[in-house]
Amino acid sequence: MSIFADTIVPAGEPWMGVVRAGQRFTIVDLEGNQAVDTLFYNAADGHEHYCATTTIRAQGNIYLTTGSVLLSNRGRPLLRIVEDTCGRHDTLGGACSAESNTVRYALDKRHMHNCRDSFLLALARDGSGLTRRDLPSNINFFMNVPVTPEGGLTFENGLSAPGRHVELEALMDVRVLVSNCPQLNNPCNAYNPTPVRVVIRNGE
Ligand SMILES: [Zn+2]
Repeated sequence: MSIFADTIVPAGEPWMGVVRAGQRFTIVDLEGNQAVDTLFYNAADGHEHYCATTTIRAQGNIYLTTGSVLLSNRGRPLLRIVEDTCGRHDTLGGACSAESNTVRYALDKRHMHNCRDSFLLALARDGSGLTRRDLPSNINFFMNVPVTPEGGLTFENGLSAPGRHVELEALMDVRVLVSNCPQLNNPCNAYNPTPVRVVIRNGE
């Protein structure tokens, strides 16, 4: 089995890579309860990207797990989740940012490391030409954001645990953009952000 990438991503760091059609992309939650903010783009055209609303509407479910097909803003399948030992991944909570830290928590949280800045840093380093305009609503792997009966969103303790993983099969060549979340103000990382492992390899 050929391994094309096998990287430990520390908490608070971004990571980018390209997964070719038919290859598998795996994220391992090494220590448990770690949110991994993730976006997918058509590797040949970054203006085609993961679209939360299209994906949710097609599958009739706001959560992602085994069998979920991630659709693009053009309605085309990007990847399929083929294995999931966590069972719950969020589509609604979005990426933390200086602005959301200020609104949700306090003005003095504005300086804290956040996923939106990590995304922007990765795009700037990559030279892909993608910018802040190309940051749609992201997936939060391993993050537990249930909707209350009143329709509210809550950030709850994670359902993940050390070693749990999610594996996706690429259905076209996709560029992956990850921010391993540094958030300290809610339980999405168990108040202790930890590293994750990302792996790209050929399919079975
Ligand atoms: Zn975050």
